[in-house]
Amino acid sequence: MHTLTLENIQLPSPPVIALRILEAVKKGDASFGELAQIILADPALTAKILKVANSSFYSMPNTVNTIEKALSVLGMNVTKNIALSFVIAKEMTGSESEGFNFGYFWKRAVTTAVAAELLASLLRYKNEDLFVSALLQDIGMLVVYLCRPNEYRQVLDEKRVTEASVLGSERKIFGFDHQEVGAKLLTVWDLPKSISTIIRYHHASDCPKGVRMQVDIMRWSNMLSSIYYGSRSVEKVQRLKAEICPSFRVNADDIDTLIDSVAKKSIEILSFFEIDPGEMKPFSHMLQEANEELRRINLSYEQVVMQAKQARKKAEDLAAELLEANSKLRVLAFRDGLTDLYNYRYFQELMERETNRAARYHLPLSLMLFDIDRFKEVNDTYGHSAGDQVLRCLAKLVTATLRTSDIIARYGGEEFAVILPMTDLAGCRVFAERLRRQVEEMEAVVAGNSIRVTISLGLTSCGAEMTSVDKLQMINAADAAMYQAKQNGRNRVEVKEVQS
Ligand code: GH3
Ligand code: MG
Ligand code: MG
Repeated sequence: MHTLTLENIQLPSPPVIALRILEAVKKGDASFGELAQIILADPALTAKILKVANSSFYSMPNTVNTIEKALSVLGMNVTKNIALSFVIAKEMTGSESEGFNFGYFWKRAVTTAVAAELLASLLRYKNEDLFVSALLQDIGMLVVYLCRPNEYRQVLDEKRVTEASVLGSERKIFGFDHQEVGAKLLTVWDLPKSISTIIRYHHASDCPKGVRMQVDIMRWSNMLSSIYYGSRSVEKVQRLKAEICPSFRVNADDIDTLIDSVAKKSIEILSFFEIDPGEMKPFSHMLQEANEELRRINLSYEQVVMQAKQARKKAEDLAAELLEANSKLRVLAFRDGLTDLYNYRYFQELMERETNRAARYHLPLSLMLFDIDRFKEVNDTYGHSAGDQVLRCLAKLVTATLRTSDIIARYGGEEFAVILPMTDLAGCRVFAERLRRQVEEMEAVVAGNSIRVTISLGLTSCGAEMTSVDKLQMINAADAAMYQAKQNGRNRVEVKEVQS
């Protein structure tokens, strides 16, 4: 597999509607009507924006019942940012089974965004980009996770077990961090520079002077929301007070009120995002309940601390063991042991994901299956373990020849599959032909023998115009094409259309 760098990282494509919104807004005031039209075309989005406009967040004197009215009372920039927030949060999710809790990620992000907005208003600081900036500040994590789930889970596990900083682990494992990736994503997506700059520096103590206040608000809003998600909440409350009160005209009570309203408003706003707020309740209520609970069980403070310490030690030991066991399991679950390519089972999952994505966004998608020609002869002549070496050699060559965005799997014994997202048939043909030639030229030297093989490839594609793309039909078509390539003399490329 290629080393992941900031340059070659595969960025997810922007949600189509987000692109349209950004394009419309660029045209300035003239785009009022156009922006309204884009939003109105999506009834669910329209309803959400109206709910926000009428929420206690803005406390409008009159009901805002049309998008045009929302645009005129909230302004174009605010409406745009609300729309982008909904669209991006809805788009950038994945299946929970893969081990990253997308639901939790967005729940926490929304709480942070709410905190940023409330804090800014307490400090009387006006900046319309704060909500969306806070919401998207950690989006780089999602992107890196989607590219390298196994390695990224290591970052998350390290944080859980050792409380290491995420930035530190990211830099150690990847050589870059989620601030850089997030900023890059939003730049490529064409979001305003004001937003991507805040995200680029949201953990940095050495940010450019012009964004100091926004960056501070990002950090404080993060702390505010982590009161509801992380541990050591009391400590965080104290730190917030110590950092904020001396520099602004607010006192400790204001901060307590702010912390409570973060929970209250988050519950409301989370429901607009269709995220279940779960057990969230204002911090002061939680403290009160905890105190009552303490009195009720009548344990001395020292006892509680002792027990907590023991429990924590035990949990840490367990977590460290689990970490090791998990990383071994993960490799087994997704990877083929011989070639280190994705295995058959994971290929099926990824194919499902890519066909769905292609259908949803009307993107082309190609699939390539190939099989080594007369591989049995290689085994018979040089032995099975030499055959294994050839398979490894071939896997390396394929990985080096294709793009990072292509998904390569070992489909069966000497059969491989490549999914090529956003690639049409013409493109896929070029890659297939190049691969065929390079395999032909490849020389695997095993125990002094130079072994050469060829491959037969079958391709199929789904055009951007398809509204539904069937995984099985694509696999069948590519398989039939590969069979044809064998029939027509091997060491060649054949194509079959998807049969519906
Ligand atoms: P063709 O595909 O061109 O029709 O001929 P072939 O000889 O490649 O096809 P066949 O399906 O008859 O044989 C496949 C061979 O691949 C037989 C099997 O032992 C070998 N093979 C499958 N998996 C492995 C493996 O993991 N290691 C080794 N060394 N050989 C394998
Ligand atoms: Mg074969
Ligand atoms: Mg075979």
